[in-house]
Amino acid sequence: MVLSLTAGTCYAGRMKDRHDVSEAQQLDPASRRLLERVEIEGIELVRFLYVDHGGVVRGKAAARGRLAERLGTGIGHTVAMMAMNMLDRLPAVPGMGPVGEVRLVPDPATFVPLPYAPGAAAMLADLRDLDGSPWAACPRSFLRDAVAALDAEGYALLVAFEPEFTLGRRLPGDPLDRLAPVDDSACYAATGFDTAHDYAMRLLRALESQGLRVEHYHPELGHGQQELSIRPAAPLRAADNHVLYRETVRGVALRMAMWASLAPKPVAGQPGNGAHLHLSLWDAEGGRNLLAGGDGELSDLGRHFVGGLIAHLPALVALTCGTVNSFRRLSPRSWSSAYACYGPDNREAAVRICSPLSPGSVNLELKPSDSSANPYLSLGAVIHAGLDGLRRRLDPGEPVDVDPDDLSETARARLGVHRLPATLDEALDALESDEFLMEALGPLRRTAYLAVKRSEAAAFAAQDEAFELFHHFRVF
Ligand code: GLU
Ligand code: MG
Repeated sequence: MVLSLTAGTCYAGRMKDRHDVSEAQQLDPASRRLLERVEIEGIELVRFLYVDHGGVVRGKAAARGRLAERLGTGIGHTVAMMAMNMLDRLPAVPGMGPVGEVRLVPDPATFVPLPYAPGAAAMLADLRDLDGSPWAACPRSFLRDAVAALDAEGYALLVAFEPEFTLGRRLPGDPLDRLAPVDDSACYAATGFDTAHDYAMRLLRALESQGLRVEHYHPELGHGQQELSIRPAAPLRAADNHVLYRETVRGVALRMAMWASLAPKPVAGQPGNGAHLHLSLWDAEGGRNLLAGGDGELSDLGRHFVGGLIAHLPALVALTCGTVNSFRRLSPRSWSSAYACYGPDNREAAVRICSPLSPGSVNLELKPSDSSANPYLSLGAVIHAGLDGLRRRLDPGEPVDVDPDDLSETARARLGVHRLPATLDEALDALESDEFLMEALGPLRRTAYLAVKRSEAAAFAAQDEAFELFHHFRVF
């Protein structure tokens, strides 16, 4: 078997002659530097990570002695894993049965030693066919293609996830564990800084050491709830960063005998954990923010981009809020949004137009977004939706400057403001009827995504709330 990947990323295709030249000598300079780092830093295992359709971060690790070869060939993986749901159950998906193999091929540019797992490092991996081409269900390739479409039309996007999570301890329960928050501090309260201080410092250092630049940190509204945000980056980097962030939040907690969960609603009766998506649209050179009109208003392009988001929002939430548990969070008066509308600094609107910190710096905040989503699929779909708005010059309607839940039904109907889907099944129905997004996903990915998510909806519908909370804080 011979792999031939794109030039510059690997040496595969020359595996036949590896008897006379070592793998390391055949690698590109970036990969050779990576191998040197592995030696110098005493790394023994390198995790090749990807995110599946259930939103779960999974992977396989290469031992140091095999790394040079694995950088090129990747590690073999069954196609069936992209049909696995978050409960580790496998719905039937044509093309993802027990027969068939893909390769987890790591992106050397994402290599990071893991500060919470001494001796281990990680890379984000693509899923490739055996001939080296991107597999039709590879999530990173989906996002990469969306970015290429944006680029082809002369646009660039800057993205930041703004994740919240619950810090606590896992209490053995009968029959299921509970997540007990680490404190009961009030929102933004200084007490919360102290109760979570040791964890927050370790988390901050662990993130910074992986190249994630921390922007802000504060104790949030919920018991044990924390928010720590990362500086914006180009889309693929931002999604990779979000995967590393999720891993780090949990890894650091585990090393301190705690349990951290980014699940949308891991504790009954407590506020949810969002991962609001901040977006700004730029010209290709990155010199001009295209969302900014005069006086902090949206430009025409900005209105069209928002128009695309609003038009596709019912379907988008099936990808940005990807779990059954996500829909407990999307309720009125929780600043997570429950209606498809937009407004300047409106924390109850699905799209908040953030007031500029400096002239010309307008950015959008998509609130129906959480960390149980596959960030590559959610961000890729958001880009496609925005692009559709730009191409078709979609009009987002009037901005909403009140809590949409305070408006009468009639007033909402007049403004064209609709409730977001209230369940995962409703969101999946909307996705299935959104021809544009279904086309963007492509046949294999959309079939698998819908099957995985429908199977989760059915599995949790047959169980109670405690089961749902347990499995979501266990996995996310
Ligand atoms: N926790 C809220 C959510 O679920 C967000 C609160 C905030 O605006 O920071 O989205
Ligand atoms: Mg927050």
